[in-house]
Amino acid sequence: MNKLEILKTYFGYKGFRPAQEKVIDEILSGRDVLAVMPTGAGKSICFQVPALMMNGITIVISPLISLMTDQVSSLVQSGIRAAYLNSTLSAAAQRKVTDNIRAGMYKIVYIAPERLDTEGFGRVAADIDISMVAVDEAHCISQWGQDFRPSYMNIIKFIASLPERPVVTAFTATATERVRADIVSSLEMKDPYCVTTGFDRPNLYFGVKTPDNKYEELKSLLSGYEGKSGIVYCSTRKNVDEVAFKLENDGFSAAPYHAGMADDMRMKNQEDFIYDRVRIIVATNAFGMGIDKSNVSFVIHYNMPKDMESYYQEAGRAGRDGEPADCIMLYSGADYRLAKYMIENSYGEGNVDEKTAELLKKRDLKRLSAITEYSHGTACLRSYILNYFGEDSSGKCANCSFCSGDTEKTDVTVEAQKIMSCIYRMGQSYGAAMVIKVLRGESDDRIREYNFSSLPTYGIMSDMSAGRIKDIIGRLTSNGYLVRTDSDRPVLKLTAKAVPVLKGMESVYIMLPKEKPVKGKRVHTGAEYALDSRLMEKLKQLRKSIAETLGIPPYQVFTDATLRDMCSKLPVSKGEFLAVSGVGSMKLERYGDEFIKLIADWKKQNGGVRLSEKEAAAVSEHPLHEIAKKLTEDIISEDDLTISQYSDNIITASGINFKTRGVRTAIGDWLIEKGLLCEKKDAKGMNCKAVTKLSESVGIVSRTKISARGVPYSTVVLTPEAQRFITEHFSEIASIED
Ligand code: ADP
Repeated sequence: MNKLEILKTYFGYKGFRPAQEKVIDEILSGRDVLAVMPTGAGKSICFQVPALMMNGITIVISPLISLMTDQVSSLVQSGIRAAYLNSTLSAAAQRKVTDNIRAGMYKIVYIAPERLDTEGFGRVAADIDISMVAVDEAHCISQWGQDFRPSYMNIIKFIASLPERPVVTAFTATATERVRADIVSSLEMKDPYCVTTGFDRPNLYFGVKTPDNKYEELKSLLSGYEGKSGIVYCSTRKNVDEVAFKLENDGFSAAPYHAGMADDMRMKNQEDFIYDRVRIIVATNAFGMGIDKSNVSFVIHYNMPKDMESYYQEAGRAGRDGEPADCIMLYSGADYRLAKYMIENSYGEGNVDEKTAELLKKRDLKRLSAITEYSHGTACLRSYILNYFGEDSSGKCANCSFCSGDTEKTDVTVEAQKIMSCIYRMGQSYGAAMVIKVLRGESDDRIREYNFSSLPTYGIMSDMSAGRIKDIIGRLTSNGYLVRTDSDRPVLKLTAKAVPVLKGMESVYIMLPKEKPVKGKRVHTGAEYALDSRLMEKLKQLRKSIAETLGIPPYQVFTDATLRDMCSKLPVSKGEFLAVSGVGSMKLERYGDEFIKLIADWKKQNGGVRLSEKEAAAVSEHPLHEIAKKLTEDIISEDDLTISQYSDNIITASGINFKTRGVRTAIGDWLIEKGLLCEKKDAKGMNCKAVTKLSESVGIVSRTKISARGVPYSTVVLTPEAQRFITEHFSEIASIED
């Protein structure tokens, strides 16, 4: 099978995404590869497809057990011989897998880096043919990545110990230039093909909010995501417990997840979420790495994480299926202080020498200040992210809280004067919380003790909410009018930039959230999918019941994107079902009948055949549409026909003046698009069409014929079954030209 046939047969996709194909070609040519691609870009397919085409076995090194289990289970579901070796397997099961590896039973084996160091595995590896070592989450190899794992250092020793050097490939979603260089040198890659695809995830909406009351804001956001799955990340276990408990009490389908919970409880909650039994998982950053749940519609950060790397990785778990999804951060100054405290108290246990510890702390603080700036949301958030990861971006994305008009340019000159003056009169010795209390005219022990109520600025902003004042202070700080000191208890001070404002010589304009934000969810600007939600619901129920019977997560049966494609294509035959994106032959065989029956019944109950969106939209001016209107089953011949002969028949029967070539090309292109034919070079180097593994399922076969000069050649022919299939789909074929 060629790479496209493998993609369609096992993964159910008809084409590679940008970058995937080139990476695969380089691997197949025997070259090492380092690919940096964002979450959801489809890194796995980059090594899984060549793994199936190479002679020996591919060893995938993966840092997390959950990741391995998940990926291997998905591969097995798709009919690929794969296994994993890690500590969750009993000794007997490990022996069995090892025996199977020796017997050549698998094409892909996932293992943890720790295992590479064991003598037992070393012996097995020496006896088998390893064609590729693929390192997943490769940033773990670099001290400069934020998930550095010393065990990743075993990889190079392992590769060097092999009788023959395999192709070495490395994949990661986040890698700065330094981390990339580190990966290449640590793995001793040879002239690697390095690709960094765009980091942008256009289907993700980014938002930041600085709410007065985070929990109320969270509830209001969650009510806008009815029926959808999502993650709420909190920075501490205590926060996780509190937020999950409150949400459950308030009637949300939510469960907690953090490393401090009993193992069985934690696993149960994770599974409930993955299997769509619980809608919201409230978690620390321990959750998610290696979880391939594709239908996560939102990721809300209840606290600001420690750096942009963590944020983009966690937020990136939304919308892996390419559907519109939201990534929203709820920021408060306390988040900054907590993160800073954590950094300052890390690297303490002698893991690294003092000098390195200081360097790492400095690096972390720099990263913290970058994400704090992001959290203030004073510019296009997408551009900020892209620029941070070294990509140029122009600064107006139309799909973040800054660009979509959730914030507006506001003249805050008077407010700024009040705030600055208050800070000045309080001796520039207090943090934002205290300044806000004084401005709002509140009373507490310290205000009484220091007699702040006698200040002329006491209560001068009593008509404004604390959250709004905090927003303004945040913006004044990020715009350089104020500084927050770096001490244990940060205090606000004025900068030289504040002076002309206080003197009334300069105005201050900043971006602020609109005063009365519309509650609930914003309307997506991206194209929403027109589909019948009742059918979608039925398909989801069927998927869930199949998944429960098999004990696998629903998205491993089919992703939401695949179900949506079913809603739009309404397949009622095996051939049509195969044309759905995400349906390969194994899944057709396993689940096709049940889904086809459901869709056929639904069609009957809902008024019969419906035109697909594309068909309905096509304005039938093109002769192909005219031909489509006139086609009937009468043109189907009892003989096998070439595509040209069949095209001739169509034109003759329709009586429309059009070239055979036009029809032939449209049919050929459509069949290739569906993976039912492929393009090849013939003996003379000319392009010709050839059958694929899927062709036979709709009656397209290859026949050997003898040319006029007596030379045998093979050609593609359409049996009556194939002619019927094409005739039935001719209006879709006609649309290919639009
Ligand atoms: P990554 O590892 O880069 O985060 P995955 O390999 O998990 O991404 O792929 C993300 C999703 O995209 C998966 O559901 C996968 O099946 C799907 N996908 C990958 N390649 C393609 C493709 N060529 N066409 C359609 N979907 C694809």
